[in-house]
Amino acid sequence: MQNAFDLFQSIVLMQGTQCARRIHLENQLRKDLKGHPFSVAGLQSARESLRRDLDQLKVISTDDESRAVLALRELERANVAAERDREALEKLTSFTPTQSKLTQIRDDVADFYLTLQIDVTEVPVRVVERLPEPYASKGFSALTADMGDKRKHGIEPGIYFDESAISPFLADYFIAHEIIHVWLGFRSPDESCTLLEEGLAELLSIFGYVARTFGLAAAENLYKIFRLNSNAATRFESYVDGIRQALFTAESLGAVGQLIENARLGRPQLNAAFDRSLTSTHTESKIDGNPTQEHTGLETGAKVARSLLSSFPRSLVVSAPAFIVAELAHDGMTFRELAHASKLESDLVSSAVAELDARALVTLRRDGQVVSRNLAREHLERGHLRFDFRPVGSLG
Ligand SMILES: [Zn+2]
Repeated sequence: MQNAFDLFQSIVLMQGTQCARRIHLENQLRKDLKGHPFSVAGLQSARESLRRDLDQLKVISTDDESRAVLALRELERANVAAERDREALEKLTSFTPTQSKLTQIRDDVADFYLTLQIDVTEVPVRVVERLPEPYASKGFSALTADMGDKRKHGIEPGIYFDESAISPFLADYFIAHEIIHVWLGFRSPDESCTLLEEGLAELLSIFGYVARTFGLAAAENLYKIFRLNSNAATRFESYVDGIRQALFTAESLGAVGQLIENARLGRPQLNAAFDRSLTSTHTESKIDGNPTQEHTGLETGAKVARSLLSSFPRSLVVSAPAFIVAELAHDGMTFRELAHASKLESDLVSSAVAELDARALVTLRRDGQVVSRNLAREHLERGHLRFDFRPVGSLG
């Protein structure tokens, strides 16, 4: 059963957030949102009840309370976004976790990929009550089975979703990403998926399909929070490394379309194109041809991906109290003034400033009681400074 939490999660991924780790935000709000319906009214009622609780706070005296304040703010942003962009909202709220809806998304994805001459019209997408074994017992919420799974476990190739764990927008991304593995798996059933293939799937799904369907800004926001967040588990870093390799190879070949041409020949040829790019000291002769409109869109997406990978700082993440202080501090402000402006208790202000100081995000006057310069401001203005729910003062 979809509820306000599913809607919140999708809006945050599409509209962006100042929180660097969606899991932290979700853990903070899941319980509060679950009891409200899957609609704008549901988001509003959840926001009202949380706001009532927080309005009673005279002083923010703990890490937990500052997290709650920032989480409420993200919920409010999601509300504003939902009210502003009715068309995007309609796309999200028309979602149902049913077989027919997932098949419809598969058809949309397949139509898009056909414009790139990638034929995935026959890939089955199945909604199941329980994922096939041995995957159900591993706690996965979705899986892609290939010919190897058929041989080993008797599972028909295709994409499987656990019906209790599907959410709008993410389902679109997931199908568009996984379907590329199935496509390559049919061509090269005996070869395994490499980092480069992960990167190709990321590039085509996020900066191709998601960008075309939900807009380039939504693709960018999804990418920032989903992949460029900091301190994610190492296994997720492989997706970022993979898209770098895919973009690098595409650049060396002259176009993303050329990368697709190599993939069409199978996994060994895709990987060989990467190896050639590594050893060539100059760009290979580019095959011009006339890029179709879809290819032009994909090249634009690839450009955005390159610029995000080069310019978006993954390390600029601070604790919730430090984020609150960074937003308010102006040059020459005393700690006492900061405590007053932020409602943070003075001990929390000191820890937050110490954290920013250790990260070279503020400089302090010699007596240590005044912020002489707030260097975090420029990062905030660019939307680069973010928070997660690490303990205040933590530098990890
Ligand atoms: Zn993948």
